[in-house]
Amino acid sequence: SMQFTRLRLNGFKSFVDQTDLVIQAGLTGVVGPNGCGKSNLLEALRWVMGENRPTAMRGGGMEDVIFAGTATRAARNFAEVSLTIDNADRLAPAQFNDADAIDIIRRITRDAGSAYKAQGKDVRARDVQMLFADAATGATSPALVRQGQISELIHAKPKNRRRILEDAAGIAGLYQRRHEAELK
Ligand code: ATP
Ligand code: MG
Repeated sequence: SMQFTRLRLNGFKSFVDQTDLVIQAGLTGVVGPNGCGKSNLLEALRWVMGENRPTAMRGGGMEDVIFAGTATRAARNFAEVSLTIDNADRLAPAQFNDADAIDIIRRITRDAGSAYKAQGKDVRARDVQMLFADAATGATSPALVRQGQISELIHAKPKNRRRILEDAAGIAGLYQRRHEAELK
């Protein structure tokens, strides 16, 4: 299967210093106190996969993902997120298909917009979006469980809960995708 193996953030929202997350196979949960950056992490994952809707990024404009500064730290001029995907099974589209691991980088610079690289080479937003659309792990994929959906699941009537879980299991079974769970 095509798994996410590493997420690296640099200047993205509250992650001002470079932060590496090693992502292991299976279900991943993100837990921590209010305001520690759980939602920002999930937004970084959506963003590097090509998310462009400001509403999905909880910001007014594209540049709002760049670290805006605090009382003690100056604002940054760019934000960068890199996602490494295991492609040992060669499931990626032909363009990416000669490598065991695919590195996708999205970078936004103030006043210069955002750009993507795959394996160190410039690629179009569309190429990246298609990579993840094919893999069914994209920004709007059910494999990313939003805050609130967990409580919907818990509070659902048994019949509906079963449907929600079957949907999730279907995705997992068909595509062996890893699931991102965000817990409030
Ligand atoms: P909760 O448990 O309440 O959902 P959370 O762990 O999901 O919290 P986030 O919403 O990911 O927390 O992070 C919120 C923090 O990120 C706030 O402190 C906010 O100021 C900070 N933040 C968001 N955007 C930026 C930015 N562009 N620059 C600096 N800090 C930012
Ligand atoms: Mg949150």
